Amino acid sequence: MGTRFDGAARKAIDFAMIEVERRGHRALDPSHLLLGLLQASTGPIPDALRRIGVEIEAVRLTAAADLGGSGPAHGGRIDVARTTEAILQRSSEVSLARGSEVVSDLDILIAAAERMETAAGRALGAHALTAEALAAAAAHTSGAATATRSTAATTQTVHESRSARTGIGYDSHRFAAGGPLILGGVRIEADVHLAGHSDGDAIAHALTDAVLGAAAAGDIGEIFSDTDPANKGRDSIGMLRDAVERAQRLGWKVDHVDVVVVAETPRIGPHREAMRAALAPALGLLPESVAIKGKTNEGMGWIGRGEGIACIAVATLSSRAPA
Ligand code: MG
Repeated sequence: MGTRFDGAARKAIDFAMIEVERRGHRALDPSHLLLGLLQASTGPIPDALRRIGVEIEAVRLTAAADLGGSGPAHGGRIDVARTTEAILQRSSEVSLARGSEVVSDLDILIAAAERMETAAGRALGAHALTAEALAAAAAHTSGAATATRSTAATTQTVHESRSARTGIGYDSHRFAAGGPLILGGVRIEADVHLAGHSDGDAIAHALTDAVLGAAAAGDIGEIFSDTDPANKGRDSIGMLRDAVERAQRLGWKVDHVDVVVVAETPRIGPHREAMRAALAPALGLLPESVAIKGKTNEGMGWIGRGEGIACIAVATLSSRAPA
């Protein structure tokens, strides 16, 4: 039977994975894990640090300094470093020692503090956050035991509990003179195109944000910055595929998407099947699981005046079946 983590612990691990990605690193090291653990603004970790009298932000800065600068994302598989694995294994012994079968984020922090040979352990040590001090603070944090018990009652295994999530995305682009218009991965003959740093495909952009949102993996502006020359004229279907791969690395697969396009022109109906066929492979779906609907804005406002297009997308993701 695998280790069971409570909601805060899982969130910390998710955050740590995002840190690895964001920094273009290849492995989940204890320092990434520490940054993930220090993201919590409420719960056992902030409570314990407050009791010890240490500013969580100060520890976060020390941990971040250890990781150094960021490089470009490498887009490959992320490994879990052996030390990180050992810390996560040890955290279940820490939880058992306090009478819980479910590992909390503070249990992981205590296990990390025991590893003084790691940068994460030294960062904690620099703020006098030893395993003993943290364990003592945990024992004295009033209500902690009750909170742990109620969390234990509602927590399932990592796989069972991460069944489904929904993300929403929105995008708008202005029309500019000269075609063709790229929308939903389809090239539409028109006398206007969608202005933008990339190809302006508002459907693909809204979907990208919906997928990233469901995986809590950031947003399109953060990942594909419009000030980065590499993204100029970029194929938006490629960005969507990248977002789907990021979600996959965090353990999520896309099950279904639904898009509403609000525009006076072009009419979506004649292009719907081509768009579903163009978007489906990037999402890892069959076209049957890609829904696209067109609406006009009844002549109202900037959309009604034909100045541009708006898209709203919803993506449903489920946790990838355990291997
Ligand atoms: Mg856009």
